[in-house]
Amino acid sequence: MTELRKYQEKTVNMVRDEIKKGNKVNQVMKRKEMVGKRFGRLTGLCANGRDKRGNKLLKCECDCGNIKSYVIYKLLNGTSKSCGCLKMDIHASRVREKHPNWRGGKHINGAGYVMIYSPEYHRMHHNYAKEHIVMAEKVLGKHLPVGAEIHHYQEKIDNNKLVICQDHAYHMFLHVRTRAFIASGDVNYRKCKYCKEYDDPKNLFISDIYSGVIYHRKCNNEYQKNRNSYAIKRIPNKHN
Ligand SMILES: [Zn+2]
Ligand SMILES: [Zn+2]
Ligand SMILES: [Zn+2]
Repeated sequence: MTELRKYQEKTVNMVRDEIKKGNKVNQVMKRKEMVGKRFGRLTGLCANGRDKRGNKLLKCECDCGNIKSYVIYKLLNGTSKSCGCLKMDIHASRVREKHPNWRGGKHINGAGYVMIYSPEYHRMHHNYAKEHIVMAEKVLGKHLPVGAEIHHYQEKIDNNKLVICQDHAYHMFLHVRTRAFIASGDVNYRKCKYCKEYDDPKNLFISDIYSGVIYHRKCNNEYQKNRNSYAIKRIPNKHN
């Protein structure tokens, strides 16, 4: 059966149904009477010519404000109920909230970040965005600059206190200070590479304050001595 034949049969059926209900066909098809009538979310406004196939069209306004023309028989048989917003709303309410995996639009991802449902956000991934980025940009009033990072105060993930860092180096510097404070009670203390103990920077050798090699000179000397002796011991073993 061709498309056209299908369509013709549908129209005939619709007219038959209307007659069964006791409506006169001519009455049903009058467009003047449809002005102001409701079809789901649509309200009839005025007649608007015919479409390519010769179907009479009625201009309608949707409750959401969209104005579009609809084929009259589709309005009458209930195929057209809205501009498309009704379908979207039903889909949203049914699928999202009632789905067994729906967790209230908020969850913690594999990396430990709080993710919130924000389908229109510019930095979303699969409709979810990192909550701390959303919050930081809200406070900042604009998008985060390129290279900027967000630090969680005292490395807590609850997003109550955030620090916006201008770059990665400054962000890592904050983490070093946080760890120093937790381990030693002083943010300025640094960890020795060899003995893994925090100490006053005065007693340490520091090549670079941000991301350098840090050690006690004593620990380094000991390490170098051990390494040399280890290497000497190792040579005869190899030949045996
Ligand atoms: Zn609508
Ligand atoms: Zn951080
Ligand atoms: Zn040391």
